[in-house]
Amino acid sequence: IFITFEGPDGAGKTTQLQKLAQELKKLGHDVLVTREPGGTSISDKIRGIILDPVNAEMVDQAEVLLYAASRAQHVHEKILPALKAGRIVLCDRFIDASVAYQSYGLGVDIDTVKSISKFASSGLQATRTYIMDVPVEVSMQRLNHRAGGGGSDQQLDRIEQKNVDYHSRVRAGFHQIAEDHPERVRMIDANRAAELIAEDVWLDCRQLLEE
Ligand code: C5P
Ligand code: MG
Repeated sequence: IFITFEGPDGAGKTTQLQKLAQELKKLGHDVLVTREPGGTSISDKIRGIILDPVNAEMVDQAEVLLYAASRAQHVHEKILPALKAGRIVLCDRFIDASVAYQSYGLGVDIDTVKSISKFASSGLQATRTYIMDVPVEVSMQRLNHRAGGGGSDQQLDRIEQKNVDYHSRVRAGFHQIAEDHPERVRMIDANRAAELIAEDVWLDCRQLLEE
């Protein structure tokens, strides 16, 4: 079983992924938690190139291909072997992120992004996808809080620095993806307490395990 978490930055994807991993482990499942872009040493280096604010001149085509390169290494080196070994894989972002960010966000042709992604992942698709949905103002506020106050000096990455219009298109993209793939994708209202969100995810995931 391959489960992916999607949604804007600051929606709490990572927290929810960790919580689900804990529940699954309690039931005795062997779980691999991973993320993209990243997840392997090569993929992490590519992630660094993509997200470095220094690379402001990066063209859209390069961005799409770098995400794909990172994904290819991650899928073949890590995800497929884990699935083959019968493990449940939880991944922070996957192909839907490319469609939302690079197609809906940047405007790159959607079929192009999908076919490049398909090549990169050798056709691997998620069994279930949870999209953490929050209003753009909320996610951007959380990001700015993380970057500025809150005792944290974490800088925003190159994508996070983009404007509110861009992030609104990305959110609309995620809504469209959920509408296009009702059998796979579950839209979760993430503008709530983490425990309530986790409950929704867990209810659905338990059903999935029984299928
Ligand atoms: O989820 P995480 O914050 O680690 O993702 C890193 C960055 O990559 C985020 O700013 C996210 O918006 C961006 N991203 C993207 N396109 C993808 C995947 C991630 O722009 N396909
Ligand atoms: Mg982020």
